[in-house]
Amino acid sequence: MAHGFMGKMLWVDLSKKQIKEEVLDEKMGRDFLGGYGLGARILFSRQKAGVDPMGPEAVLGLVTGVLTGTDALGGSRYVMVGKSPRTGGWGDANSGGNVGPYLKFAGYDAVFFTGKSDKPVYLFIDNGKAELKDAARLWGKDSFETQDMLRAEHGKDVEVACIGPSGENLSLIAAVMNNKGRAAGRSGLGAVMGSKKLKAIAIKGNMKIPVADPAKSAEMRKKHIAAMGPRSNFMRDFGTAGLFNMACESDDAPCKNWAGAAVIDYPNYKNLGGDKVLEKRQRGWGCWHCPIACGGIMKPNAAGEFQYSAEAHKPEYETLAMFGSNLLNDNLDSIVKLNDICNRYGLDTISAGACIAFALECYDKGIITKKDTGGLELKWGDPKAIVTMTEMMGKREGFGDIIADGVMMAARKIGKGSEKFAMHIAGEEVPAHDSRGGPHFAIGYAGEPTPARHTQGGEGPLPPGALPEYNRGSMVGRGAPHKVGATLTVAYNATGVCMIVIGDGYGHFDQFVEALATITGWDITKEELMKTGERIENIRQAFNIREGQKTPWKYPDRMLGIPPKQVGPRQGLTVDEKALCAEYYQAMDWDVKTGKPSQKKLQELGLGDVARVLYP
Ligand code: SF4
Repeated sequence: MAHGFMGKMLWVDLSKKQIKEEVLDEKMGRDFLGGYGLGARILFSRQKAGVDPMGPEAVLGLVTGVLTGTDALGGSRYVMVGKSPRTGGWGDANSGGNVGPYLKFAGYDAVFFTGKSDKPVYLFIDNGKAELKDAARLWGKDSFETQDMLRAEHGKDVEVACIGPSGENLSLIAAVMNNKGRAAGRSGLGAVMGSKKLKAIAIKGNMKIPVADPAKSAEMRKKHIAAMGPRSNFMRDFGTAGLFNMACESDDAPCKNWAGAAVIDYPNYKNLGGDKVLEKRQRGWGCWHCPIACGGIMKPNAAGEFQYSAEAHKPEYETLAMFGSNLLNDNLDSIVKLNDICNRYGLDTISAGACIAFALECYDKGIITKKDTGGLELKWGDPKAIVTMTEMMGKREGFGDIIADGVMMAARKIGKGSEKFAMHIAGEEVPAHDSRGGPHFAIGYAGEPTPARHTQGGEGPLPPGALPEYNRGSMVGRGAPHKVGATLTVAYNATGVCMIVIGDGYGHFDQFVEALATITGWDITKEELMKTGERIENIRQAFNIREGQKTPWKYPDRMLGIPPKQVGPRQGLTVDEKALCAEYYQAMDWDVKTGKPSQKKLQELGLGDVARVLYP
């Protein structure tokens, strides 16, 4: 097998309680790199079209990349893959921490689950051996308790990916959690894991990942760390929380369920700034061997109104914005608490914050009342009510049950015109970057195989040397450069490196290509990486098309600026997501109206079998 990979995958049939090993094909490894590339390739071939994403025929995967667990900077990632119960199309969710590297140290590049268990189980993998174990005592426990109990049983060197109560109770905004503060949050794959009655994957391993030239690889790592620039220091100090003030000032951050402007409606936004978060931080924290370590553990808060323990993780920008500015909540302690609640229940903080914003606006407009909320007054900016409702959502209690499947489903249940306050794209809540004035987000949110993703699309965190020159202020002429960025982004994601390390660690994109070449021994170029990224984009998109989905995904009017905002730095702006996506799709050779990849393009990328399915 190629260097960088372990060369083996596990297939676990939860219905039959059977576990099989399978060799990872070497060509498939190079053609798809791992992560959602490998995941999409496998699911397109092995999962039938039209399966119920929560049914026994659905395949759920935990997949690492070729650089996960290696000397490449930021090689900490794994990706959960499956059919999304939120969109009905392709689903994936990326997480850092230690789980990805440990799966490889245990001997495997990926684990795929099929079937459904009749009782709660967890998979225990120990250095090349795997067994399904009874999880009855873990069922009902939160994600922290689950991780602690599995460590108590199997040793401190066990890494755990698990669901909390939200995944167990099939909340469609449930995440897969690890390291008590890292989440594979999007696409509703925590619910898919819950539907299979799979509580956790516990992993122990100390095998070595084969590398083309270990000495050269270690030297390269030292060289790349020495070359890291000042942006990495900023991320080490503040993490993504350091972006919050700027996002409020530029009107990028959501405010009042995307209807307001932080500089007008949310005057105390600096209460949540990176410096304020840092004051409450006890220590820094990083994913496996990360040279940046952008995370943090907070000082315990045992006496205040919003109490949390010494295990609470530092909130990320997305969490601060979705539970802060978006709800007009300027109480930082409450947001650390909300982050902690979501980490314990296993909820995606982006979706959870959006669900609360939807509930607050429905209450404000009189669509729901105290009768619906069990007597709870839901007022903008009231941290106590927000914390209470978030806990109710985690437990699926009362009105919390209505919003626990996301805003699209909640609006369907509530009706009464609430749909226009449900800020989602194809069922996925919109993350905390405003595409009015951020056209690259509009292309990413509406045009990518997974809707409403700030981490996908092509003009995000990329180091110098990745993108061609183009006019970033223009609404036209973005299609071709966006394609370059999108395909490179998809490729590096598939390798298992962190996007923050790519954007803020590597000084030049060539260093990343050097890392990949050194570790694998491949004679690889940026051009091959773009082609590989394009292949991965096409197969993820083909999965959507086969499931009957069409893109660009439908966008909420408010988020397009219809009507335009009347206040703030982005007042008067509208975004034409269809025109932006049309340019991107032309560059990709995808149909502008449906997003269907052309037959010629699929053939050119070596996806002839996919072309035969899409063009029978
Ligand atoms: S930069 Fe942050 S999220 Fe990325 S690998 Fe490092 S610690 Fe994890």
